[in-house]
Amino acid sequence: MEKKEPVYKINVLHVANVINSDQSNHVLKYHQGEKCNSPTYSYLITGENIPPMLVDTGIMERFPQIMRRLGMDGVILKTYEEALGELGYKLEDIKVILHTHLHIDHAGNDDLFPNAKIIMPRKELMFAVAGIMDEQYPAEYITYLVEQSHVPGRMRLIDCDINIAPGIRLEINEAHTWGSMNICVNTRKGLAIMCGDVIYDETLQCHENDVFLDVAEQCKNPIQGFGDRPTGNNWNNWAAKMGVVDVMSKADVVLPSHDPRVVQLYGYEI
Ligand SMILES: [Zn+2]
Ligand SMILES: [Zn+2]
Repeated sequence: MEKKEPVYKINVLHVANVINSDQSNHVLKYHQGEKCNSPTYSYLITGENIPPMLVDTGIMERFPQIMRRLGMDGVILKTYEEALGELGYKLEDIKVILHTHLHIDHAGNDDLFPNAKIIMPRKELMFAVAGIMDEQYPAEYITYLVEQSHVPGRMRLIDCDINIAPGIRLEINEAHTWGSMNICVNTRKGLAIMCGDVIYDETLQCHENDVFLDVAEQCKNPIQGFGDRPTGNNWNNWAAKMGVVDVMSKADVVLPSHDPRVVQLYGYEI
């Protein structure tokens, strides 16, 4: 008999917006000098036989100057207490935090969740601490992150792709940062991939992609990510392109962290 994988629920938590960000941060060389606003989502994964898991912990409100140094602003829309409360959960209920990566808009509130184990790729922590992307991993933020997570047993640093439950797989993806992580979850809509900033804007990067239009037109499924439009903000252009292809070739449901298309397509529950 075929073994059926469990199906999980994913809730979208629209906790903040990033405003006045340059368009070319999102899509390489696209509309340089033009500003754009985008949502910042966390995701809550729930289901039978797993503890509630939170994907990313949003923007660090305490250090607004960090966002400003990067030429953008973070606007907090609701606290995690409020966002989770709307779904019937408390901060203490979160037992696992999964980080797509450690940029300042993705791991700013880990300290709110004292009962959570934090799982992420070891090389993302190495990359963040090394400061290779400068102000995107600024010293005061990384110091906070290491201090508050430096509790015996709290961190689970992974070195390879793993299944943490049947139907929940963590895959290391070098696309946006060296240790970005895709969180792949079996849902009633198929395989959902929470890909962090590996894709910023699925429409621009994968659907209105005119470079390989002739090739795309010949494909059975015209929705193809050829990876010729990488995210503008990345540590390695080639890896960024391949990351887009990787997600688009596997996912039934693409769940980036800053793409309003998510809520337009699925609402707040997948
Ligand atoms: Zn990022
Ligand atoms: Zn981000």
